[in-house]
Amino acid sequence: DTPHLTLLGLGAMGTALARAWLAAEQPLTVWNRTPGRAEPLAAEGAKVAGTAAEAVAASDLVVVCLLDDASVGETLDGVDLTGKDVVNLTTGTPAEARARAEWAEQRGARYLDGGIMAVPPMIGSPESGGYVFYSGSQAVFGDHQKTLAVPAGTRYVGEDPGFAALHDVALLSAMTGMFAGVTHAFALIRKEGVVPGDLASLLAEWLTAMAGYAYGLAEHLESGDYTKGVTSNLAMMVQGNSTLLRTAAGQGVSAELLTPFTTLMERRLADGHGDEGLAGLVDMLAR
Ligand code: NDP
Repeated sequence: DTPHLTLLGLGAMGTALARAWLAAEQPLTVWNRTPGRAEPLAAEGAKVAGTAAEAVAASDLVVVCLLDDASVGETLDGVDLTGKDVVNLTTGTPAEARARAEWAEQRGARYLDGGIMAVPPMIGSPESGGYVFYSGSQAVFGDHQKTLAVPAGTRYVGEDPGFAALHDVALLSAMTGMFAGVTHAFALIRKEGVVPGDLASLLAEWLTAMAGYAYGLAEHLESGDYTKGVTSNLAMMVQGNSTLLRTAAGQGVSAELLTPFTTLMERRLADGHGDEGLAGLVDMLAR
């Protein structure tokens, strides 16, 4: 007998999660603030609870996937969580996750936080590579890993309940930088004869080739030696960046996405660290 599971929140992500569990014949109770969103799932075999309290009472394992941390509080503040295992897949900051863990424990629940590294179409398709970072109660993770692995891969990153959000946001922040770079690249060719689709395949190939740079940066940060094995040093990169900025100007493209990073590199160079890679910038930002 598969133990019952409760899912709170049937937005785009919650609905995808629900469908993946239903497809795996997971007994499921769902609740959503706007009841209409639960109707199609009822037809697919989910039990629909009229209130969040009723939904929570139906299972020992309660998965939450709401808009933000505030909506989790609004939904669960008056609800009895005694003896429940709460798995919160709502995106939030590390601090929100840590506070939410304490809040859950004060209510007699065990708490596991999650950060979803997938978009809804990737849920329920293991081959898509989507997964969820988990952190917090290792016991909850261990007891429910099989169930949690149904919609997406699972990666447990530690007992600190803030770590799932920390890893989630670190990856999304890096992705944001990549999106900024890609946006700028398309702007450079916008008024030229280059076909965007052709540039796209070159970009994907080049960014994939460069992604391994993260390992070199990590090595410097771990050893504390920021110059070891550097083949493209800061002095060279700053020089190269002036070409990027002059090209943007020549193409009539705003350099607003590139300038902040360039400025940071110039400050480190001015401090006499031209022989380093980029590790020194990490310290400047984290100060
Ligand atoms: P949606 O906007 O599609 O759905 C939001 C859900 O939150 C709905 O169920 C909504 O209920 C509910 N909600 C909002 N405010 C409240 C409230 N005050 N009280 C109760 N319920 C509330 O978002 P998603 O489903 O896409 O996202 C859910 C979570 O998953 C978010 O934290 C998001 O960051 C995360 N996520 C989403 C991804 C995506 O690509 N979609 C990717 C990775 C993570 P109602 O129907 O009544 O409005």
